[in-house]
Amino acid sequence: MDPMTNSQARIAIIGGGISGLTAAHRLRELLPSAHLTILEAAPRPGGVLCTERRDGFLVERAADMFTSKDPWALHLCRRIGLESELVGANEAGRKAFIVHRGELVEVPQGFVLMRPTQLSAMLTTPLLSPLGKLRLMMEPLKRAKKDESDESLASFVRRRMGQETFERIVQPLVGGIYTADPERLSMAATMPSFVEMERRHGSLIRAPQATRSEKDASGARYGMFVSLREGMQQLVDRLVERIGQDAFVCNAGVQSVQPANDHEDGGRWRVRTMDDEWNVDAVIVTCRAPHAAQLFAELQPALSDQLRAIEYASTAVVVMAVDDDQIGRPVQGFGFVAPLVEQRKILATSFASAKFPGRAPYGKTLVRVFIGGACQSELLEHDDHQLIEIARHELRELIGLAGDPLFAEVVRWNEAMPQYHVGHLDRVAAIERSVASLPGLELAGNAYRGVGIPFCIRSAEQAAENVADVLCASG
Ligand SMILES: Cc1cc2nc3c(=O)[nH]c(=O)nc-3n(C[C@H](O)[C@H](O)[C@H](O)COP(=O)(O)OP(=O)(O)OC[C@H]3O[C@@H](n4cnc5c(N)ncnc54)[C@H](O)[C@@H]3O)c2cc1C
Repeated sequence: MDPMTNSQARIAIIGGGISGLTAAHRLRELLPSAHLTILEAAPRPGGVLCTERRDGFLVERAADMFTSKDPWALHLCRRIGLESELVGANEAGRKAFIVHRGELVEVPQGFVLMRPTQLSAMLTTPLLSPLGKLRLMMEPLKRAKKDESDESLASFVRRRMGQETFERIVQPLVGGIYTADPERLSMAATMPSFVEMERRHGSLIRAPQATRSEKDASGARYGMFVSLREGMQQLVDRLVERIGQDAFVCNAGVQSVQPANDHEDGGRWRVRTMDDEWNVDAVIVTCRAPHAAQLFAELQPALSDQLRAIEYASTAVVVMAVDDDQIGRPVQGFGFVAPLVEQRKILATSFASAKFPGRAPYGKTLVRVFIGGACQSELLEHDDHQLIEIARHELRELIGLAGDPLFAEVVRWNEAMPQYHVGHLDRVAAIERSVASLPGLELAGNAYRGVGIPFCIRSAEQAAENVADVLCASG
């Protein structure tokens, strides 16, 4: 699309997380002279993306990477001059582990998310009993699902590979990513490629030979993990710089979005905060779905109800810095996940300093322990001190962590992870139909078609392009 050079359009972007920042940046590319206002409820832009430096450690408070498999984040970084700042995952230790009867067991070679690509590795793994292995090996014989209705992750995996593979391997690997209840997590919305594999080939195991990278992987495709030298904050800071500081209004929680046809200032929409209002030609709403629901409560109650129906889960990240020699049983990998059947009080642990360079001084380790999620939300009632003690206790048992950490802190993410439950895509389609009837209004963000950073970026760029199209068409 050619940039419109003479547009004086006024555009409001609600929410200054990666979705809002990306939408604003794309609008700068498409409509260089448009007047942008980014309204952010918090004191700083960035949303959940936030990196801190502490005692020589680089601490990510939420996301610590994105994947290059879905290319939109990588493309954005290149466009904003961050290519030389991109860092790949360390070559050493590209492995993940699963807690099994209190011990850490490596994810079988070639098992990526929910697909076994090396049957010999599955036959020798201690994660499954002989019966569990037999059931898994019967996967190619299991009939493919006939209808195209959505189903849960738990139902799909049990049906194809059996209960043991589900609860011992897939639930912790996949459920952990979404901090979700696997009995409710939608296959169509989260793992469409595996649904398609079953539909086309009748089996995950029988589907055509895996690529070499898939065969070499275990747990995830680490070759596609990307971060930035100074952490995800670098992406936020560069976008803010490119957009221009003066476009931001922080501490500005938007309360409503209404048509503005009657207003002398013109513009299509009126956006209100507690103490101010803006008349604009277009609005891109990127805040979480329940917040977006509040904005449309008067304008479109049906849309508001659909948005409110998207549930969220909470999680806490306990960040701990330790000396390497405090870890009695060092793990040669990027981290481990804990299946619900193990009844641990943690979801996963990531060795941040093993994953990317420059995260910890020499001889020290930075650990991030994830607690809570949809299935263990009661744990988040503990105060910070108790959460740190839970994390220390679990790590003492699982990796022999000894002594006091150099520092420990808790980052809470309340209602931050959208839950794509069965039927999510139908709900999103209904939301999109409602929004299509409101010209100049767009939704973007992690609530709809992907929670990962690349998907947020894709949705925000699409929203910006739609707004530019509408404004161009209306002259
Ligand atoms: C702990 C954690 C770890 C994660 N790890 C990864 C990872 O490693 N890789 C990956 O790809 N993804 C990861 N994710 C997911 C990814 O980081 C998020 O989905 C993404 O950053 C969300 O961006 P967003 O802009 O859509 O939403 P947010 O970051 O939530 O931003 C929304 C913004 O809207 C603002 N807002 C809310 N209401 C209003 C209002 N009424 N008016 C104005 N502003 C408002 C909020 O203050 C916020 O700043 C992780 C998420 C979490 C929580």
